[in-house]
Amino acid sequence: MSLRFDGKVAIVTGAGGGLGRTYALELAKRGCKVVVNDLGGDRHGTSASSSMADKVVQEIKAAGGQAVANYDSVEFGDKIVKTAIDNFGRIDIVINNAGILRDVSLLKMTELDWDLIFKVHVKGAYAVTKAAWPYMRDQKYGRIVVTSSNAGVHGNFGQANYAAAKSALIGFANSLAQEGAKYNILANTLVPTAGSRLTETVMPKNLVDALKPEYVTPLVTYMVHESFQESGKLFEAGAGWYGTIQYYKGKGKVISNATADDIAKNWSNITDMAGAEFIGTISEQSGRLMALLDENESSS
Ligand code: NAD
Repeated sequence: MSLRFDGKVAIVTGAGGGLGRTYALELAKRGCKVVVNDLGGDRHGTSASSSMADKVVQEIKAAGGQAVANYDSVEFGDKIVKTAIDNFGRIDIVINNAGILRDVSLLKMTELDWDLIFKVHVKGAYAVTKAAWPYMRDQKYGRIVVTSSNAGVHGNFGQANYAAAKSALIGFANSLAQEGAKYNILANTLVPTAGSRLTETVMPKNLVDALKPEYVTPLVTYMVHESFQESGKLFEAGAGWYGTIQYYKGKGKVISNATADDIAKNWSNITDMAGAEFIGTISEQSGRLMALLDENESSS
């Protein structure tokens, strides 16, 4: 076992079950001290208990690892980080994993369906990361993971709230990657697929059983190790497959003084993805835009 985490402290939110539990167990097995955060509520985000986090802490301790439970909702990120500081004196790793579902079509969606999803996924990741950030900046070291979803990348029927929140997290992590670069704080996004109490509502039982959360765990473990050097990227895992998701821009077409009719006439060129380019950062995008502006002005 060469990827060790001795001396490091991690917060794993929503670690009382599903994917988060496997991250907490694996990190602890590799020498990391772990804050096992879980509100212990139901999958719709409407109740709470201490039993889920306690159970995982017991599992870790029984295996000889070090862990402490925290039962706060992720909106109260400062309390979760305080648990890490009070018990272990530092914070190196934040895995924003806690999540709920409130699937419903837009027509039937209530304010509560929208707000709770954003409170747990987006406000939660913000609050925990924001509270950990000053410690990471001062020690010039941090590894942050946010958990998106294929729903956030592609959208999904009945998940306008969840998909919007999961997309928001991609922009959040990509921005933190830029703000954290000079402090050796790396931030990346995970897109997992696994059987869990969340996905058992939308997947058949045989798939829930087959898609083990443990298939996702090795990627996340590497993503928060000190040897990992990527930042501002999306990585995906599920079913024993590991990969990456990137944005490519088509070559498109510069059309000087375009009218709507010109757009319609040139639609096949505008949407052609042949020769599409990978755009890694917003500064690459700005440079590209300036060159296109020159091309536009010189052809008009
Ligand atoms: P899960 O329900 O087993 O785990 C989520 C955990 O978060 C639960 O233990 C729950 O108690 C906890 N939690 C919920 N609200 C909380 C809050 N306010 N504060 C603290 N803890 C809270 O589900 P999972 O499938 O393991 O999901 C983990 C993450 O992965 C979620 O963010 C989910 O959206 C995401 N995800 C999962 C899949 C998948 O296929 N399982 C796919 C895409 C994204």
